[in-house]
Amino acid sequence: MKLLAVGSMAYDAIETPFGKTDKILGGAASYIGLAASVMKVDVSLVTVVGEDFHREYLEMFERKNINIEGVEIVKGGKSFFWSGKYSLDLNTRDTLITEVNVLADFDPKIPPHGSESEVLLLGNLDPKVQLSVLHKMKKRPKLVILDTMNFWMNSTWDSLMKVIAETDVITINDEEARQLSREYSLIKAAKKIHAMGPKYVIIKKGEHGAILFYKDEIFALPALPLEEVFDPTGAGDAFAGGFAAYLTKTEDLSFENMKKAIVVGSAMASRTVEKFGTKSIENYTNEELKERIKQFQGLTAFESLTV
Ligand code: AMP
Repeated sequence: MKLLAVGSMAYDAIETPFGKTDKILGGAASYIGLAASVMKVDVSLVTVVGEDFHREYLEMFERKNINIEGVEIVKGGKSFFWSGKYSLDLNTRDTLITEVNVLADFDPKIPPHGSESEVLLLGNLDPKVQLSVLHKMKKRPKLVILDTMNFWMNSTWDSLMKVIAETDVITINDEEARQLSREYSLIKAAKKIHAMGPKYVIIKKGEHGAILFYKDEIFALPALPLEEVFDPTGAGDAFAGGFAAYLTKTEDLSFENMKKAIVVGSAMASRTVEKFGTKSIENYTNEELKERIKQFQGLTAFESLTV
């Protein structure tokens, strides 16, 4: 199977309690592509950048066999720029600057190579653009996964509802799930979100892991306890990228396999936060990924017991 992903490609400037960066590579599509490439999945990205975007970033994607035919470069345009600052506990962040730039008039073009992809990941971006990508596919993909954030709930509620209605899997963090459903209990929130469209609801809880809801079933995985956390930016995108890439690679879109995909997504997210920006996921090898998945197994396995 093939994976097609749309999302922002950006310059980010990040501040955490451990340091500060100048403009570095960022954006949902970047993290998704890099996560998928760790598993050598056939992945194509659809996005837009300005003429100011470093050529070396695009070359790095090509070297990793990430298909970038769908990355439009706007002559004279400026790339999307986002700047954020994290609190001391890294759990909350303030967006300092969002310069939409070339993303404002983005009319996505699906590259021929990706137009019949079986798995479509609608990464964080304007829901109108997400919907237009879905409608431009040659046929409806077998699985449509949506990632979004509170920014879109606050600014484009109606379009967000339209794209959610056409989605199979939604990944969202706990705070956003509560905002979307107006429910405090995550079980009630997941039920309400099911009713909006997605059969599968994944609620991410940062350093506390992720929960997958399907019908009346629940699967929960803790996050890997880490000694070093530098920068949570992109963890959600790397999670979604790893989740989607695993399903694409195994060609199995069942609930049982989605549980495994959650492990892969979590293994990607935990790696991403260990360095600033995309640096640690850029250098993630398949062997290291396997090793981290074993750590998850050790963390969660216990023998049956009697009480
Ligand atoms: P995450 O930490 O998973 O929420 O993703 C962080 C990435 O999202 C950063 O690299 C930003 O460039 C990107 N980002 C932030 N705000 C937006 C937005 N409004 N639209 C699209 N991408 C965004």
